[in-house]
Amino acid sequence: VRALALHPDVLVVTSAVLHANCVIVRGGLERGAADASAGPIEVIEPAAEQAQGETFVIDSPVLPDELDALSAVVEQARFPSPSGLLATHGDWDHLLGRLAFPGVALGCAESTAERLRSSPGAAQRELRAFDEDLLIERERPLALGAVQALPVPGRCDIGDREIELHPAAGHTADGMAVAIPWAGVLVVGDYLSSVELPTLEAGGDPGAYLATLERLRGLLESAQHVVPGHGPVLAADRALAVLEEDAGYMRGLVRGEDAELPPGRSSASHRRTHAANAASVHDPR
Ligand SMILES: [Zn+2]
Repeated sequence: VRALALHPDVLVVTSAVLHANCVIVRGGLERGAADASAGPIEVIEPAAEQAQGETFVIDSPVLPDELDALSAVVEQARFPSPSGLLATHGDWDHLLGRLAFPGVALGCAESTAERLRSSPGAAQRELRAFDEDLLIERERPLALGAVQALPVPGRCDIGDREIELHPAAGHTADGMAVAIPWAGVLVVGDYLSSVELPTLEAGGDPGAYLATLERLRGLLESAQHVVPGHGPVLAADRALAVLEEDAGYMRGLVRGEDAELPPGRSSASHRRTHAANAASVHDPR
C-alpha cells in the first residue's frame, strides 16, 4: 500500500479503489531523555525505545490486502498500535477499520451513531454488494461492535494532544470533519474532492451541504493539508478553489439550473452523479 507522511504524526493510506483515503494519526511524543529530571528516587526504566502516546485510524482503505497491511504501516512508522478508530460518516466505505483492527472501538459523531443504530446491517449489505460486483472475498464479516458516539462539535484526547471534531452533514444526514491542529491536517470526509462531484446521498441536503462548506472554509485557514474521503490530498489553497467550485455547483443545483460541471469533473460518470443530485433536490428522498 501507498502511505504518505503529511507530518511526523500523520500518515495517509490510499486505497487502489474509490481513491479512498485512510488517515493514521499519532498523538503524544516519544519520551526519551525528557523524563530524566532527577527526583529523590531514581526510577530506572527499560530502554524506552517504544513510542509513547496514542494512535487513531480515521476512515479506511477498501481492499482486504490494504486492510491487512495497515498494522504493518503503523508498526513501520513506530506508532503505538491503534487504540481508536474514527469514521467521518456512516457510508460503508468509511467503516472498514474494524476489519483491520477487530478489537478496537469505532468512534463517530452522534449523528453517525444514530444513523448506524437506525439502519442496522446497511453498511454490511452495501459492502457485500460491492464485494460481489468485484468478486472480492473477505475472511470475516464486518462487525462494527459497540459504536462510541462522540459529541460534535467537540474535542477528543489523543495521547498528550487533542483533535477537533466539527459537524459535516449535507452529503448525508450525518458526519464530522476531523482537524489535527498541531499537524495542520484537516480530514473532511466526503467533501472537497478534486475528482468527485459533490454528492447528495439519501439524507443529503443542499442547504446543510453549503453550511458545511462554509464551516470548512473557516477551518482551511489553519490547515496546510486537506484529506478528502476520495481523491488526492490537497494543499489548503487548492482545497479552497475546490470549495468555491463546489459551493457554486451546489447553489446552481438549488436554483434548478442545469449547472455547468466544474472543469475536470464533467465525465459521463460525473454527469450521472449530477442527474442523481438534481433528482434528489427536486424530489427529496
Ligand atoms: Zn465515501
